[in-house]
This record gives sequence, structure tokens and C-alpha cells, in this order.
Amino acid sequence: MTTATTRLADYRPYPFQIPNIELDVVVEEQHIAISSSMQIEPALTTKVPLVLQGLNLELDSIVINGSSVPTDAYSLSSSELVLHQPPIHPFELKIICRIDPFNNTSLEGLYSSESMLTSQCEAEGFRRICFHPDRPDVLSRYRVRIEADRTRYPVLLSNGNLVSKGSLAKDPMRHEAIWDDPYPKPAYLFALVAGALQEVQAHFKTTSGRSVLLRLHVENGDETYTSHALDSLKKAMAWDEKVYGLEYDLDEYNIVAVRHFNMGAMENKSLNIFNSKLVLADSECATDGELERIESVVAHEYFHNWTGNRITCRDWFQLSLKEGLTVFRDQSFTADLHSKAVKRIEDVSMLRNTQFREDSGPTSHPVKPSEYKAIDNFYTTTIYEKGAELIRMLHTLLGQQRFMAGMALYVQRFDGTAATTEDFIHSIAEGACANGEQLGFDLDQFQRWYHQSGTPQVCVKRHWDSQGGTLTLEVSQFTPPTPGQPSKAPLVIPMALAVIGPNGRIGEEKLVVLDQDTQSVSLRDLPRQAKPPALSIFRRFSAPITLQMDVSVDESLQLLALDDDPVARWEAGQRLWRKILLARARKQADKPLEERLALALNQLITSGGESDPSFLAMLFGMPGLAELEAAQDVADPLMLYQVYQSLKSWLGVKLSDPLKNLLERSRLNWGAQWPAGQGERMLTGLTWSWLAAAGDCEVRKEAVEAVNGPSMSLARAALRALQPIECTERDEALKSFYERWQDRPVILDTWFALEASTPRSDGLERIKQLLDHPRFDPMAPNSIRAVLGGFASNPPVFHAIDGSGYKFMAEQLIAIDQRNPITASRMVKVFSRWQTYAPSRKEAMHRAIDQLASAELSANTREVVTLMQPKH
Ligand SMILES: [Zn+2]
Repeated sequence: MTTATTRLADYRPYPFQIPNIELDVVVEEQHIAISSSMQIEPALTTKVPLVLQGLNLELDSIVINGSSVPTDAYSLSSSELVLHQPPIHPFELKIICRIDPFNNTSLEGLYSSESMLTSQCEAEGFRRICFHPDRPDVLSRYRVRIEADRTRYPVLLSNGNLVSKGSLAKDPMRHEAIWDDPYPKPAYLFALVAGALQEVQAHFKTTSGRSVLLRLHVENGDETYTSHALDSLKKAMAWDEKVYGLEYDLDEYNIVAVRHFNMGAMENKSLNIFNSKLVLADSECATDGELERIESVVAHEYFHNWTGNRITCRDWFQLSLKEGLTVFRDQSFTADLHSKAVKRIEDVSMLRNTQFREDSGPTSHPVKPSEYKAIDNFYTTTIYEKGAELIRMLHTLLGQQRFMAGMALYVQRFDGTAATTEDFIHSIAEGACANGEQLGFDLDQFQRWYHQSGTPQVCVKRHWDSQGGTLTLEVSQFTPPTPGQPSKAPLVIPMALAVIGPNGRIGEEKLVVLDQDTQSVSLRDLPRQAKPPALSIFRRFSAPITLQMDVSVDESLQLLALDDDPVARWEAGQRLWRKILLARARKQADKPLEERLALALNQLITSGGESDPSFLAMLFGMPGLAELEAAQDVADPLMLYQVYQSLKSWLGVKLSDPLKNLLERSRLNWGAQWPAGQGERMLTGLTWSWLAAAGDCEVRKEAVEAVNGPSMSLARAALRALQPIECTERDEALKSFYERWQDRPVILDTWFALEASTPRSDGLERIKQLLDHPRFDPMAPNSIRAVLGGFASNPPVFHAIDGSGYKFMAEQLIAIDQRNPITASRMVKVFSRWQTYAPSRKEAMHRAIDQLASAELSANTREVVTLMQPKH
């Protein structure tokens, strides 16, 4: 099967407008009857056929202006309905069709999850509900009537405001609800939910004094776990008013929690649908990290109401217009509510270990791709997180005030329309320069960031003039070739710099705009001393690049101790951790450096000078496996896995006393309610992990007890600490976690992930048992990701040298692809790094890719597999 490629260059406006759509949805026992009445206005004076998309729809009838359309006036294929000669004047098109959501396992369009009916239309799911252009630049006002059995489906929801609800006169066992959304929206934001759901309500008063009804719908029994999500929603609504001046625009806002969901959450206008794991939480059943993530995802979906819904994307090549911007907004929200430094460090670390990895492999693509086969494959960290970094760079270059002036202009100009990334960039620049200021960089050159894939490398060489007190930097930038892009042009890179002396920062921070292949930057009037001062560079991680600069251990330690930018301080520590771990992986442990880092860590613990325990925990965090693999000539995940453990064990012995001291101090705040106590619980997890690795029996015992304690954060920290160690406490801890949570699928997924990622000699057998486990739900993407994702992050089992892990993974993905292509095509990327491994592993992984390639695959998975295959 070949699938057509969609190209940005081929974009043409849709030749018709559809200002109004009335949908009539009748839910029957075995199917749903959908009647759509569309008011259609030709946008061109010339006659063109009307092309509508439709997948797995059973066509019943087509009526134009009340007259039935004869069969020779249209053609119908498996994916399109074409009306050859539609009227040239505005007309009403009514199409009746049937769908079967009860056997829809793709989780796109309308489908059933447990006993409810729910929808997912982004990106191209609406065509599985009715015939429609299903492209984001066609905006319509929707009025929706849903009719269903009142006992099976007491709750009937769609977008907008509820107009009426009641029993049917002709059949009192059935009822209907009518919803009206006054804001024109693209079809991907359409949503419908029907089911037996319990509702929890709250209210929010907007800045202009309107009262908004907030309703959260969950399964029976889950009502007690909703207050965190509702509180998060209120915080997000208030923040968007305060920071962006954007207010909510309807009378109600609904969130529905769904167990079977391909994504995290979906921003459908006023009817958000959430993966239940991102709604249901309290401190007993969710970790601090999960609470923060829920807060940020609830906010993200809410923020889309303006950046995504009111202003949507012209086409899917503009996906980062809504996603990059909204991720930037949710990152700022979390930073404002909690710690700016910790949030930035978490985001940088995530970017490095996922996006940088993607950007250096076979599926690397620009933030604005120029072509795709399956758009679902482009919901990536590049579109989202790298996209957010581009917005952040604009913010850095312009400053808060000017950036906000640009945002205001963007909203004013494009509200109610489908826009492009260029529209956004030009509005930001125009708004920022409204008072006649200079932009300070080349806008067209900045936009290269959207079109060039790959992570730029910035190389810095330093010359120190001790007589003149001048530090000169020779800076060059280079972006390595990526698939389809052999050579790149220089980018606009904001580089925030400062000089750090023995008493901290000397002078002001400086923002340099790099825009040449090579350029020279001088920092003058520095203290005239023999040794150059320490350089704090790319402060706050001011650009998503990799830095190449010789930094001595002394300099790193000085920055770790004295830099006033917490991100640069953390970065200095990361440089040392990387050096130590990579040296151990080469079997050339750098003992003197390890001793010095241990000493520095000891000082950080004992000085007590670090007021934020979460930040202290960041300094103690080792770099992720993905970034270390990228730094190795030949990636060796198994060796790195062992190295983490051996280093933890060494530090656990070396720093035993100070760590116990730290543990003692942290215990005092164990019971504090999130966000308080989060840092102490992080530090507890860290000390447990190091001390348990060092063989400390008391700590292992304490960890086992925590699994049954009142804090999920501590329970999970305990499990993580014990997991890599072959010991009875580990089995005991996993067993009691299972027994405690076996009836809560959302939490049990964690157990599945832990079991699947636990290194054991019979690891693959265990994975098979988990997939056959009575509580494993093969239809839930969460469960699939838990077991197979856990398996992929279990180096000894997944990377087994005989290739058995790869082969088994390929078999599983082929099977999953049959029922859920979106989940399969995302998971198949576990093979994308095959070329970085040693020959034997490389060949085994290559065989697994061939195994996939020769199977019957969906278009989604086929596209990814083809990218990963070697090019001849
Ligand atoms: Zn989003």
C-alpha cells in the first residue's frame, strides 16, 4: 500500500466555506446514525467539485436543498466522497450515514471506552464521524443534537453551551441534549461524549465578572480524586487573565476523564477530554511530579482556548503554531507557580533526552515540516518542545514587555481565523516594534529555526588578555546534516553570558545575538588577573543548542559553587557528572575527579546554604541515559546502566554520613502537602537510591515500609531505589504495591511499568506474563506504554545480545498496529537509534526493523519504519 505525501507547497484554500453545521447524532444499540446538515458557500466563481473526506462511514443518503442527489452525481471511494457538480450558489447539503464506534479500536473519531462513547478528532478523526473536508482552515459554527438511551447514557455532552435537555415524547426511555457552540471552529475541535458519568462542579468568576460553570466528569467512584484538577483549572484561568489578559469566553467548561485515550489530553472547545491518568489524583495516589504534570496539562489544554481554538492552524504544517506556543505558555505558568529554576532545569533535561535524540536520528524533522504521510506522526517533541524553545528565544530577544505587545497584536489580528507561523512571527515583531524600536535581529533569518532540522552546535574558543582584562570568544555555529537537509545556514542564536569571579558574578549579564557561521565576541574591563575568569554561558539555556567548549574541572566546580544563574550552575554540575559517568563507561574511572565531586556534594549538603531543596535535588541528579548514549562513540546502554549503579553505590558509601544527615532533615517535611515538601521528598528518594545501592539494609527496610505509607511520592521513590538491586526487599515492595493498588487501573499501570523495567535474568518471560496478566488491558494505550515502554527502558532485557528483546518487541508492535496505529507508530521509534550501537546489537535491531517492514502495516507505522530503514 502506498500513501500519498502531503506537501506544504501544495496548500490551496478550500474552495468552499461552511459557516454552519447541524449534527444530529442518534445512538442506537449497535451503531450510531449521523445526519449532518451543512450550509455550504462556494468561495470561487468557477465550478469545482466538492470533495469531502470519510473513513469507515456507511453512506445512507445525500440531499441538496431538499432534493435527493442521484448516484451518478457523486463518486464514493474508501476515503472520499466527491460531488461532481455542486451548485454555484450557497446551498444546504444533508448527508446521512452510519458509524460503528463499538468496534473502533483506533481510538480516533467516535469510539467506546469502557461503557462510554467518546471522541478524538485531532488531527483527522472527524472524517470517521461524518463526511466533511476535515481540514483546520474550514471553520464552522456547530449545533449538535445527541439522542440516546437515558439509562445507558445519562450524560450527553458536546461543545459550547447546553441549549436544552429532556426526554423524547415518542420514547420516554430515550432522551436528547442540544448543544450550541457560538464560536466557529475547525472540525478537529469537535467533541462528543455519552455515558454514565458522575459530575463534580466548581465555579470561576472571570475578571469581567462572568461566572463560568466548571464541570469535571468521571466514572462512578472517582469523584473524590478530582479536586486537584479543578483547582488547577481555576489557577490556569486566573493566570491567563493576569499574564496574557485573556479571559474565558463561554458559560461552561467541561472536562471528561477517559481510560482509553491515545494522547495526554485534548483541547476540544469547552469540552476537554483527558486521559484519566491526567485527571484523577491526590497526594496519596499520585506523586508530586504527577500532581505538577496534571496542573500543567490542565493549564495547557485551557490555554489552547486562545492559542489553538480561537486562533487555530491554517494547515497541519502549522501545528507548532498552537503547540509550541501553548507549551511555552504552560511552562511559564508552572515556573510562575513554583520554581523558575527547577522548571527550566526539568525542561532542559527533557529536551536533551528526547528532542535532541529525535533530532539526531532518522525521524529528525523541522519544527515546521514541509511534507508528511501521516500527520499523527508529527505530534513530536520537536513540534512541541523545540517549538516552545523558539518562542522562548523570541521572548529572550525581545524581553517580556515587547513580547507581550506582540502577543496582543497577534490575538487582535487573528482571533477567529486559521493562521500560520509566519502570521505569528510577523505579529510578534510588529507589536514589539510598535513604538519605533529596532528588532535587533533578522526576522527572516530567525525563521530558519522553523525550517532547519537538527540541533545546532555552538563551538566557543576563548582567548584571555590578562594585561587588558579582555576575554575574547571565537564563536562558530554548525548544524549537522539531517535527513533531507545536507547543509544548513547560520541561525539567530541568543547567547546570554556573564563572568563569574571568586565572589560571584562580575558586572552585568550580556545578551549576544549570534547570526554568523563564525564571529568574535569581546568581554572587556574584567579584572586583570593571570587566570581567565569563569564563563557562565547560555545562561537559562538561552538557546536549544549543544555547546562545545573546553571547560576545566576547576572552572566547572567554581560555577557549580558560585554562578548566580541556577540553570548554569546545574549545567556545570552536569558537565562533571557526564565526565565521570563516561569515564567509568570506558573503564577508565577518573578517581581524582570523583573525589572532588563527592567533596563538592558533601559541601552542598553540609553548608545548608541551599534554600530550595528541589534545586538541591536537581544538582544531585545525574544526566539521562539518552544524552550519555549520544556522547558515546558507540552507544552502550548496558554498560551505562551498570555505571549508574556502580557510581551510586560508590557515592552511597563515600557520602554515607552526610546522606543520612540529609535524610534525617528531609524526613521532617515528608508529610507536608504538595507543593510543600516536594524537594524533601525528592532528596529522600535520592538518598535512598544511593544508600540502597551501597547495601544499606536499614534504608532498604525503610523503603519497603514507604510503599505502604501515605505518600505516593515516597512509595515510588522507594520502588525506584530498590528496583535495580537484586534483593528480597525489591520483590516484597513490588508485591505490596500491587496488592494495595490492584483495583485502580490508573495506578496499576505504574506497577506494570516498574515490573517491565526491572532487570531480571528471566526478564523476557516476565514481560510475556505481564502482557497475559488478568489486569492488563490491551485496549488501553496507557497499559501498552507501561509494559512495552518499561521493557524498552530495561537495557539488560531489551538490548539482550541475542536480539530476543528486539524480536519480541517487533512482534508486539505488529500486533498493536492492527488495532491502534497511532500507539504503534509512536512506540516503533524504540528502534530509531539502531545505527549508534555496536555491530552485533546493530544487526539484531536491524533484523527487527526488517521484520516490521515485511509485515502488513498501517500508513502511520509504515512511514516511521521506512524512515528508519537504511538508505541505499
Ligand atoms: Zn496542545
